[in-house]
Amino acid sequence: MRTKRRSSTPGMKNMTLHLFGAAQEIGRSCFLLKIFDKAILLDCGIDPKKGGKERYPDLLKYVADANMGKTEQKTITELIDFVLITHYHIDHSGAIPYLVEICGYSGPIYTTHPTLESIPILLNDNSKLDQLGKGQRFFHAKPKMLENSLKNVIGHGMEKMVISGVSVTPYNAGHVIGSVMYFVEYMGASVLYTGDYNMTPNWLLRPAALPMLCPDVLITESTYGTVVRSSKKIRDREFLLKVHEGVSGGGKVLIPVQALGRAQELCLLVDMYWERMRLGHIPVYADSWMRERGNKVFGRFREWTNVDTDTKELENLFEYKHIERFRAEYLQQPGPMVIFSSPGSLSGGTSLEIFKELAPHKENKVIIPGYCKNNLLDKKILEGGEQDLKVGNEKISVKLQVENLSFTSHTDKKGILQLVMQVNPASVVLVHGDLPKMVALRNTIKRAISVPVSMPQNNTCHLLDTRLEMMEGVLRKDGKPCLYSEQGYPWRKKCSGSSGVGKLIEEYETRLVAALRCVPAHKREGVRRVFVRECIGGYAMKQILKARMNIGTHGVARTTALLFPRKGRTIEEIIGEVVVLFYPERLVQRVAESEVAVDNGLSVLFEEKDDRIRASVKYTEANTRKMMSVLRHFKS
Ligand SMILES: [Zn+2]
Repeated sequence: MRTKRRSSTPGMKNMTLHLFGAAQEIGRSCFLLKIFDKAILLDCGIDPKKGGKERYPDLLKYVADANMGKTEQKTITELIDFVLITHYHIDHSGAIPYLVEICGYSGPIYTTHPTLESIPILLNDNSKLDQLGKGQRFFHAKPKMLENSLKNVIGHGMEKMVISGVSVTPYNAGHVIGSVMYFVEYMGASVLYTGDYNMTPNWLLRPAALPMLCPDVLITESTYGTVVRSSKKIRDREFLLKVHEGVSGGGKVLIPVQALGRAQELCLLVDMYWERMRLGHIPVYADSWMRERGNKVFGRFREWTNVDTDTKELENLFEYKHIERFRAEYLQQPGPMVIFSSPGSLSGGTSLEIFKELAPHKENKVIIPGYCKNNLLDKKILEGGEQDLKVGNEKISVKLQVENLSFTSHTDKKGILQLVMQVNPASVVLVHGDLPKMVALRNTIKRAISVPVSMPQNNTCHLLDTRLEMMEGVLRKDGKPCLYSEQGYPWRKKCSGSSGVGKLIEEYETRLVAALRCVPAHKREGVRRVFVRECIGGYAMKQILKARMNIGTHGVARTTALLFPRKGRTIEEIIGEVVVLFYPERLVQRVAESEVAVDNGLSVLFEEKDDRIRASVKYTEANTRKMMSVLRHFKS
């Protein structure tokens, strides 16, 4: 396996991430996270756009590489401690049969109860599509295989678990019912893997919301990393308006939808609208399974939904007042109607059959409510206008109106940034997105919170830094403390001219930001506000202070901090807290009554005035000499 080295810090890394898919692309999410001696497979999906071997994560190659040149050959079950599945979509769960039946994995696979319930439904649908399409040439899971491959899948709730010594905490991801993010902690290192998520609520689901977990690494999806979407309310209204327009003109409206989730959400929306607008005379049809599946999954997992039980009884949630079961002969009825049908893309199945019927008539309409640009037929249809399309060996003349609405259960750029700010990671890895969008998103995140952001490639092993390793990287150069570097004091040269001082301060602030990130919350209690001047490093510092520590900032002179201590604290205590806050794990010496020197040659002078404390940071030769002598003393 190709190894990509990101950090220049020497020595062994304790955390790595092998990417088997969804790296700089969408689909086939499957990552092996290694923390010290543990190996955890995060998701195990297929790429539904691809056929053959490319459809699956190349886990067999990983096993072969791991065993190369070794006398003792390990099986995949010995190489992977356990598997975590974030949600039921096939690009996250579809390769489970492959993992078990072809790769021979027999260890535990964990997922939430609703996902456990939904995976067989989705895998069965996928298996049928596989049979029709290109997947079958490489591997096709027969029903017996499907059943067998799911017998080691274990359902869990939302409480913290300890799995083979690793602490795993699920958090609601708001993407589809039962979808979660996983927060993994082991031996002081921690990773948050988001899977797919949504930061805004919809009719059925609560949004993702997380505490400040401060993970070493955040692995986040970036599907809509450059898009800021209109509000959910506006989108709902736009959708209903388009449906209403369609039937007002006397046409039939087809809405192709995903099997589970989107279907129930949109049916609910239309049902309530039909009631409100008194449109009961216009029939609305849906495949029978929409109600059955909705009740089976949503009805059983009440605590996972966002349904307000005051306005609608959950038991009867999918007993729609205005939606009837669809039958093929209804298509021959004259007059307007609305039809919900699956699959969500027009790649086959019932929705394609209905589309073929409706396509030749101008008054009809198809509303595609999702992400479908990778399906060739959908793409052509979306181009709109009158055209002749070849579907299989049939030729259809398309005259109907085409609408596309971005009803997605993925978060947008704003949501991704919101999550990053909420959880406060030390570094970010972007997955599940298109490369150009990832590049733009990386820059946005870096600007907002100045943490390292990477976007590794498929089939590579990516090195991850723990927070401790990052901290060491900040305080050391080439593995040694900065002051003992071969070249002598590294900032000395930079400080000769006036611009040199600027560089020094910049570097000081960069380090300060990194240091702040490592201070535990309970140590920040004494400080309420810090005044920071607007400058390059200062901007990042302000962002960090505000977002991470809820400390307000205001611009004053560069590198001067004005502190508002809580009542009843002595200046001694305040100095102690500021030192811990700004200089954790550094050597700090008291050089005067209210002045401390830090081992980088900076000193901080504290002045008390009107219930405030002014902390000025300065750099002096004298302080450097003083600290050098202290360090020498420590060394001997
Ligand atoms: Zn998904």
